[in-house]
Amino acid sequence: MNCDTFLACLHPYVDGELGVSDTLAADTHAAECPRCRSVTARERSFRQLLSQEPRETAPPELRRRIVTRIRRSARARALRPWLALPAAAAVAALLLVSVLPLVHRAAPGVIAELVDKHIAFAQLERPAEFVSADRREVGEWFRERAGLRVTIPDYSPAGIRLVGARIADVGEHRAAYIVYEKGHTLLSVFIAPAPRDAADAGGTRVSFRGYAYLTREQKGYRTVSWTEGGVVFGLVSMLDYQALLECADRLREERSAQTRL
Ligand SMILES: [Zn+2]
Repeated sequence: MNCDTFLACLHPYVDGELGVSDTLAADTHAAECPRCRSVTARERSFRQLLSQEPRETAPPELRRRIVTRIRRSARARALRPWLALPAAAAVAALLLVSVLPLVHRAAPGVIAELVDKHIAFAQLERPAEFVSADRREVGEWFRERAGLRVTIPDYSPAGIRLVGARIADVGEHRAAYIVYEKGHTLLSVFIAPAPRDAADAGGTRVSFRGYAYLTREQKGYRTVSWTEGGVVFGLVSMLDYQALLECADRLREERSAQTRL
């Protein structure tokens, strides 16, 4: 096994879903390759961090419903040929492929990547892979689909409606993506492992209700982000900074309330 094949099976490896011989091969490679070893360690600690959130056992009925929906959409994906994809989605995918390398040279860093994802997902017919306005359903979907325990903040008091969620690839990692809508304006919330070079040069440091944030405008979108325990939280939207900071504060409050329980 080399680095490429190792990284290709990183997620099933970390999830313990590989067969015996593949697991052995991966163990062997990780033992002799510092880079893959550290990627694995980060992936594990990211999952642990998310799994520290309190286990709120879903009622069996809710869980059954989520599992059924995951299976059904997996089947639908398998049956749908590429050409039958909505034209907008195909165009967005092509744009993503051709534009990303340039964008990365021009504006490196995880925030730039989150903005690109926000734009790409917004162009899809359905930005959310799993559509639901029910926070418990979305939380359960992350658990079933990717083994992630994610806080789904409630922004409904501010008229910001939960649309759904998807699993996004950020860097070499799997990230949680939650999408909201205020009128026709999308708000993306990303929860991703922090990159090794966490010092993101661009941006303005601000303090809001005692917490430190990085604000940055990119391609006309505003972003608010912070890093906590090896995880980067990023909000991307056309909403103004005041709204984004309120949303960020709310997410932090809900996370700390849950871990205190
Ligand atoms: Zn390697």
